[in-house]
Amino acid sequence: MDKVILDGKQVADKVKGSLASRVEALKEAGVTPCLATILVGDDPSSETYVRMKGNACKRIGIESKRIHLSKETSTEELLEVIDELNQNDGVHGILLQHPVPAQIDERAAFERIAIEKDVDGVTSLGFGQTAFGFGKYPSCTPAAIMRIIDEYKIELEGKHAVVIGRSPILGKPVSALLLNRDATVTICHSRTQNLPGIVKQADIVVAAVGKPNFVQGDWIKEGAVILDAGYNKGNIGDVDYEACYEPAGAITPVPGGVGPVTISMLLKHTVDAAELTL
Ligand code: NAP
Repeated sequence: MDKVILDGKQVADKVKGSLASRVEALKEAGVTPCLATILVGDDPSSETYVRMKGNACKRIGIESKRIHLSKETSTEELLEVIDELNQNDGVHGILLQHPVPAQIDERAAFERIAIEKDVDGVTSLGFGQTAFGFGKYPSCTPAAIMRIIDEYKIELEGKHAVVIGRSPILGKPVSALLLNRDATVTICHSRTQNLPGIVKQADIVVAAVGKPNFVQGDWIKEGAVILDAGYNKGNIGDVDYEACYEPAGAITPVPGGVGPVTISMLLKHTVDAAELTL
């Protein structure tokens, strides 16, 4: 079989294309889908991510309500802002940009987001529902990885998927989604022993480590599918693309892989949430 470059931009364009008519229909029904983004502090990368998400909303007719709070914001103040957005019928999705400054209890803030507006899948209820197989909005990056798998008709049943990373927004939920689709899932983390040996057994590798070029070419089984969720400084993934390209059967590039699909899933979840208010 020919090697496949899993083109996230193409998948994202397809997802966004399918949203245009749904946004139009919502507007005809008097509802403008709206995503509220909350940025706390002035971390430049977070500012860029929030701006990109807001601009992506606008391009397809979703309203973007941007809330920028000072870096001195307390947990209580942030919870109040989230409460207001929860009660605002004009807001359909709420995204709190991670990370927040250290004085804030980030988990408490995530938990405060109403489940029907948790379009980024950050609440424990949303995670639980995803794990049980009936969640409406899984975290956007895990949802993006599954979308790429489906668009390219990558078989999961009975396959060995190795996920490197166990964070609440990425490693854990993507593992649950893969398991729900009958993959045999191994979750690796910083204490895992013999990581290269485990990755070598994988039919599907999901890299969600947060370390540039971490996954090495000689860890990869011939023909394995590699999904690189990593997005490190300088547009560098968690997978050493040059080295892994050769053995891989299919691989996502960085940039242009999981990242653009993640944003398109956020838009899709916001439209889904708006439709549920009709
Ligand atoms: P995170 O919260 O820092 O989690 C990283 C995970 O990697 C942890 O579970 C950690 O294990 C594990 N890990 C660290 N060092 C390891 C090692 N040497 N061997 C094996 N596992 C190791 O990161 P995250 O938020 O999940 O993000 C992961 C990556 O995805 C980052 O590059 C981030 O930029 C990217 N990301 C991309 C998108 C997108 O839209 N494309 C969205 C979100 C995140 P422990 O649990 O043991 O510490």
